[in-house]
This record gives sequence, structure tokens and C-alpha cells, in this order.
Amino acid sequence: MTAAAAELMDYDQVIAEFDPVMGLEVHVELGTATKMFCGCPTAFGADPNTQVCPVCIGLPGSLPVVNQKAIEYAIRIGLALNCSIRPSSVFARKNYFYPDQPKNYQISQYDEPIAFDGYLDVQLTDGTTWRVDIERAHMEEDTGKSLHIGGSGRIQGADHSLLDYNRAGVPLVEIVTKPIVGAGERAPEVARAYVTALRDLLKALEVSDVRMDQGSLRCDANLSLMAKDATEFGTRTETKNVNSLKSVEIAVTYEMRRQAAVLTAGGEIVQETRHFHETDGTTSAGRRKETAEDYRYFPEPDLPPVQPSEEWIAELGTTLPELPWVRRARIQEEWGVSDEVMRDLVNVGAVDLIIATVDAGASPEAARGWWVSFLAQQANSRGVELADLPISPAQVATVIGLVDEGKLTTKLAQQVATAVLDGEGEPEQIVADRGLEVVRDDSALQKAIDEALANNPDIVEKIRGGKVKAAGKIVGDVMKATRGQADPARVQELVLAACQ
Ligand SMILES: [Zn+2]
Repeated sequence: MTAAAAELMDYDQVIAEFDPVMGLEVHVELGTATKMFCGCPTAFGADPNTQVCPVCIGLPGSLPVVNQKAIEYAIRIGLALNCSIRPSSVFARKNYFYPDQPKNYQISQYDEPIAFDGYLDVQLTDGTTWRVDIERAHMEEDTGKSLHIGGSGRIQGADHSLLDYNRAGVPLVEIVTKPIVGAGERAPEVARAYVTALRDLLKALEVSDVRMDQGSLRCDANLSLMAKDATEFGTRTETKNVNSLKSVEIAVTYEMRRQAAVLTAGGEIVQETRHFHETDGTTSAGRRKETAEDYRYFPEPDLPPVQPSEEWIAELGTTLPELPWVRRARIQEEWGVSDEVMRDLVNVGAVDLIIATVDAGASPEAARGWWVSFLAQQANSRGVELADLPISPAQVATVIGLVDEGKLTTKLAQQVATAVLDGEGEPEQIVADRGLEVVRDDSALQKAIDEALANNPDIVEKIRGGKVKAAGKIVGDVMKATRGQADPARVQELVLAACQ
């Protein structure tokens, strides 16, 4: 860690003395096949500098051409966020030097963004709704990537740096909120709920794969504190590239506690960017924050204004999908579950997975049961989000089907699911390879039952005396002996029959 551990104020005390003010900037990489201003492909994970051309590495004389699909996506995002769409918006050059920025400027939008003045209603865990006002959604191009070699992987202490321009020029939409005021102690939760809702919305719009782990969705969190009696916002910091939903909440909490400690000790907050550290949930100082004037924005002379027709905007409005929260309300009614149950399903990110599992043939009850208990435990112990577990809803539906057909007991089914998660293949194949199917043949069971009865004469006596419950121990021994492959109900029947 580069920074000395910062002083932190107790969270309750922060809330007693200060009001947090947040601003969230989310960059979303659009899922277009080609880049914003050239025909280079955008696929993630290609060899470095294999997806570049004179336009996106800024060679002299090259000219950008706007990607129509990117404009369509930006308008659909704006409409879904209840924004106004500007009839004529312009691109601007944002001038700054950084090695991952081959042109020495980034083409962005400045005072005339394509979408502005919207809102997004987000659900908090207690079921209440919080309206986040959206200031703007504008188009821009992504930068390349620097890879610092040696040291800790950061630029400080590195031996040298490598540059990959594959990402340079990938279309982005940046969505900026208005200041979020009045959330108080719930500020970190509001931040997480907002990014979650935005991610779900963008996914439903099919404009991005919204993979936070691959940088398709990146959140910068601005935060300042106001003393309870203050009338003006305090100085803010901008924590960059907070790359998971959980981290958004942690980063906001950390900055609240850190800034409160600085202010209470008589210090000043420096307007700066801060780096978030996933490993310990802290932030450390980055560069002093430039103001807009520093970037010397001016209209991009190589690109005409973007002027979508009213008809086109109206037509795009009709292509908006059912919004995730509307869909959820409908699904809740279909499944007949309470608000509370539904909220839990939403909070663990299980709704879409359950829907997909039901679509693949499982009953809603079984699908729900699997995702919220066994698979949720697996996600937890493997340290991943539910949706990132390496098992598909179709595979879960297959496992459920095998239970429904009586081929697997629940225990065996969990073994099969675990094997799928461990990369051993498809459920049916795992059942066949491991010979996991339930033993249906009574004669095969009888041997294990006879043995268990012989080992437990006292229990046999009890059963004969009418204590049917005592059979549980024998059933347990038989299940153990058959490595869980017997049907416990059938074993119970056979045990009782044997004691007659
Ligand atoms: Zn290119």
C-alpha cells in the first residue's frame, strides 16, 4: 500500500456531524461491433495492438466517422433514463496528454451532450424508492490501456510501461448524476443501488455486456461532506474506477469516514482523484483534479453535429424493452411471492437467473430454491456474484429435472451441481461418469439394510415396539453405505417392512 493508513471517523459520528453529497459518473462501453469513429473491432481480450488503425491511434491525416449504432445506443440509453434528447449535439476535443491517449485529446461531448435532464428510480433494500436525478448522458471514446511492468503494477515504482491501443476509440456513454443530497447514512446504499439499477437497465437495453470485471461498466464516485450547519457543498474527491457493486458501497463509506476525520481535525479536503484499492477497501490520493477549463474543450472540427430526426427518436422510443423493475413487478405477481421475498431475490441478484431457469423448464419454486440456497452458498464460498457462477440456468434446470424424474435425490443433485461448478462438464455426463443415479433396485439396497439392522439390534427392538422414528438411524446408515445414492423414502419403507 502506498499511502499511510488514513484516520477514519466512526460511521455513526460521521452521520451525526455531516451530510454526504454524492455524484456518480458511470462509463459504459457500448457493445457495438466496431469502434466509435473507425471500423476496428471492439472484442475484448485480443492480442495487444491488433485492433487498431490510423484513426484510433491518431495518425496525421486520418479522419473520424461517427458510428451510427453508437448514436442509436446513446439515444436509447437517454430515453430509458427519462432524458431529453438534444436535436443537435456536437462532439468536442478534450485536450490532455496521457500515454494511453494517442491523439493527445479525447473526442467527447461537452456543453451539448446528446441526452440530459433525466432520472432513475432505484429500489433500496427496505423496499423504498430513491430517485436519482441524471444530469447528462454523453458519448465519447475510450482510451487505451497502460500496463505497468515491475513493482506493484502501479506506475510508481514500475520499471517500464506497455501500451495497448485496442481499447482506444471504443464507444462509451458516460452517465452523470446531479448531486445526490439528503441520503444521509444511506448514501453508500443509494450509490450501490443506483449502479445496480443502471447495470440492470443497460443490460435489458442490450447496449452493453455491462461486465464490471472487464471494465465494460466503470463507476467514479464523487463525494464531499457538508457540516450539518453548512449551506454550501464541501470540496469533493473523485474515487476512480470502482469496479464492483460491493466496491461502490465500500468506497463511498470509506471516503465519508476519511473526509470526516480530516475535517474534524481541522484539515482541508483536497480536490483530487483517488484510487480505490479492492484488496482492503481503502482509497489513496491520485492526481489533483483538473477543472473543465484546463482541458481547453473546443468543438471537434472533423465531425458534423449529431442531428437525430424526431421520427428516429420516436421510433427508438418504441424499441425500449420492458424495464427491469416493471418486469420484476409482473414476475412477482406470476410467482405469487411477497414483497419481502422478491426483495431478497433482487438483492442477491437471483431474479434473472430464476427466470432463465424457469424458461429452461424448471418450476418457479424449484428454481428459486436452488438459486437462493445451495447456489447462493456456493457463490458465497467461492467469493463470486451469483450470476458469475460457472453454471448456467439451463444446467440448473437439467439438474432439477433429474430430481423431478426421481433419478437424483437432492443430495446427489447437489453433488452434480458442484461438479458442474468445478468444470467437470454437463450434468447428465457427470451422472453417468460418476454413476450417481439413485439406486432403484431393492435387492441392491437389501444388503445394506440387512447389515444396518444387524449392527443395531437395540434400534430394531425399538421399531418393533412401535417407535417408528427410531428408524432414522438405520436409514442414515444405509444412505451412508450407499454413498447417498438410495432414495431415503424407499429405504424407510424397506426398513419398516424388515422389522415387521
Ligand atoms: Zn481504428
